[in-house]
Amino acid sequence: MRCPYCGSPDTQVKDSRPTEDNTAIRRRRICPDCGGRFTTFERVQLRELVVLKRSGKRVPFDRDKLTRSVEVALRKRAVDPERVERLVSGIVRQLESQGDTDITSETIGELVMEGLKQIDDVAYVRFASVYRNFREAKDFENALAELSHEGDGKPATPARTIRVRARPAKDDTARASDGKALPRAGAEGGE
Ligand SMILES: [Zn+2]
Repeated sequence: MRCPYCGSPDTQVKDSRPTEDNTAIRRRRICPDCGGRFTTFERVQLRELVVLKRSGKRVPFDRDKLTRSVEVALRKRAVDPERVERLVSGIVRQLESQGDTDITSETIGELVMEGLKQIDDVAYVRFASVYRNFREAKDFENALAELSHEGDGKPATPARTIRVRARPAKDDTARASDGKALPRAGAEGGE
């Protein structure tokens, strides 16, 4: 297993044991060249999943890529790597238990958001901002409001701790000029 820090081709296994739920083997590794330490997991792969991208391209599902995007969202947040591993495993199992081996990138994105919402508010908003392509501060406020409605008793993370990178709006046709969302087609209420 190649060292993720320096690229050295042979790293050594220091410790090897099953995860809590016995579905994987967790290996602690050390790099003889840079001293870097990292963890790998060995597990059963039940089905070959294919991701259908928005562009229409089909690519093999890559668990490591999913793990990396979750880790990016969780960067510098104090979350146990085993918890991250459980989140990813849970997502993969949900994907595997769907009837179809073709899954859309939207489905994966929504599952990641659901999972992160349970683990870490900041990571959830970070991931959502990229995934949903937030463009204005209002988008962050809406995401935070979603969190506070989940009712775990904790207040949502204050917006000021999250770096807002508002991008110029390219397409505001979905909003009326007064800023209110347009009514959805077919939403005929009783009023
Ligand atoms: Zn190394």
